[in-house]
This record gives sequence, structure tokens and C-alpha cells, in this order.
Amino acid sequence: EAPVLRKPSWIRVRIPSGNAVAKLKEKLRANRLVTVCEEASCPNIHECFGHGTATFMILGEVCTRRCSFCDVAHGRPKPPDASEPANLARTVADMGLKYVVVTSVDRDDLRDGGAAHFVECIAAIRAQSPGTRIEILTPDFRGKGRMERALEILAANPPDVFNHNLETVPELYRNVRPGADYQWSLTLLQKFKAQHPDVVTKSGIMLGLGEEREQVEQTLRDLRAHDVDMITIGQYLQPSAHHHPVMRYWTPEEYKHFETFGLALGFTHVASGPLVRSSYHADRSAAEAGLA
Ligand code: SF4
Ligand code: SF4
Repeated sequence: EAPVLRKPSWIRVRIPSGNAVAKLKEKLRANRLVTVCEEASCPNIHECFGHGTATFMILGEVCTRRCSFCDVAHGRPKPPDASEPANLARTVADMGLKYVVVTSVDRDDLRDGGAAHFVECIAAIRAQSPGTRIEILTPDFRGKGRMERALEILAANPPDVFNHNLETVPELYRNVRPGADYQWSLTLLQKFKAQHPDVVTKSGIMLGLGEEREQVEQTLRDLRAHDVDMITIGQYLQPSAHHHPVMRYWTPEEYKHFETFGLALGFTHVASGPLVRSSYHADRSAAEAGLA
């Protein structure tokens, strides 16, 4: 049993409310869409929605995996909703979004891991909002033949940014990310980049699950060795008492160290800070990486 650590002063999660956000939420409900921004009560929601950025969760809210840090329900998911790509595209156009992150739970029940549904969403958004940049944050497509199938399907309609999170250092995988494999995830990122040299690749890790500084540095080296362009590093916060405890709150200075370390390794963009999330400032980061 780890002791319950007190939140330090630099972790202040305020959940703002307001008219603009309330209106957008109505549109999301009307189209039966789920955003990570709302689900995770993300403190950046005003800023992101205001800038025209949002993160949508497709393929349902039930995951076939059970990671010890994650608040998503576990069980048997429903078949993909065939009307979701059109609903998503209409909402993106309605909200006037300029930068969209599309993510999903793991769908180990589907032969392609959900890749075809991702591609349908990309195509539908592009058809209605050709100027909108699309980042996909995908599962690992782990399983026999699944990565190959997924990569082949994605090749038909690649996103502007391909993001797949390692989440943590390899030493903690067994405990934190059962069902995933560190090298598999690195290989996915590398293979995608080899197929699409012009598409930015991105990954992310959370700190505070029990990792050591040298392990984080090695993970950053591994990502660069697999041609990953951008990285996000943020503090893990425990969603409930039943989830993995926070083992440590890394300090802002330590986040700064990883930023410097990452930039020296050659990442085009490193977002590292206590409140950084996978999609935090995704639009700006992409712009700095020379994309948007
Ligand atoms: Fe949504 Fe990501 Fe922005 Fe949070 S940081 S509001 S999850 S887009
Ligand atoms: Fe959560 Fe993703 Fe793990 Fe599923 S695979 S439990 S959505 S972190």
C-alpha cells in the first residue's frame, strides 16, 4: 500500500463552466458524441474549445483492456456505430473546429482493432472541413496480423498527426498496462512513420506511477530511435481510490529537465509539465512542428 500523497500547489485542477462550453456540450449530446475533454473533466476545456480544439472518443466507452491508471469502463463493447463518422463530421463542422483529436478505447474484439472506423471518421471530417487538421490517438492494434491490417487501412487516408501513447516506462508495463507490450507500441510508431514520412508522429507518457528518472530518459531515447517526432509528458492523477496510486509528484523543474533532455535528443516538440495532457496544445504543438 502506497501512502496517499498530498497534491502539491502546482497541481490545481479547476473545472470551469461557461456559456460557450455549455452550448458546445448541447451539440455534442444532440449528436451522441463523447469528448475526452468532458469525460476527464479536463481543466483546459475552455482554452481548447475556445481555440477550436477538442478530443473525441469514438468506438464507444467500453474498453477490452484494463489499465490500472485508466477510468474507462471495462467489458464487452458494442459493435461500432455506423452513423458515428457522419455525426462526428457534422459536429466538427458545427463547432468550427480547426484541430481535432480522435481517439478510442482498445477494441481487441475487432479484427482491425477499429482502424477502418478511424479512417471513416477521418474521411468524413475531411469531406466537410477540409481545412481542419486531424490527429488520431490510436490503440496499439496488438494481436496476430492486426498491426499490419490497421496500417494498411490507415494508409488509404492517413491523419495529419499519428499519436500513440506509451503511457509509461517498460519496467511498469506488466503492472500498469497489462495487455500491452512496450516494443510492440514502439514498432507501431516506427512502421507508421516509415510508411508516411511526411506525417508527424507523436507519443506520450505519464509520470508518477513509480518510474525512475533514468527510466524516463531511456524511454525518450527509445522513442527517438523509433523516429517519433513529438512527445507529451504529464503528471498522472489518480481518478479514484480504486486506481493506481500516485507514487510521486514530479516537480516543475523536473518536467523542465525532461523537456531539455527531449529537445537535445531531436524531438521537434516536447510538451512537458504537470498538467500536460496528450492533446494539450495539440494545435499549437503541431504548428510549431511546422504542420498547421
Ligand atoms: Fe480536450 Fe485535450 Fe484540451 Fe483537455 S487538453 S480540453 S482533453 S483537447
Ligand atoms: Fe484505458 Fe486505453 Fe487501457 Fe483501455 S487500453 S483501459 S482505454 S488506457
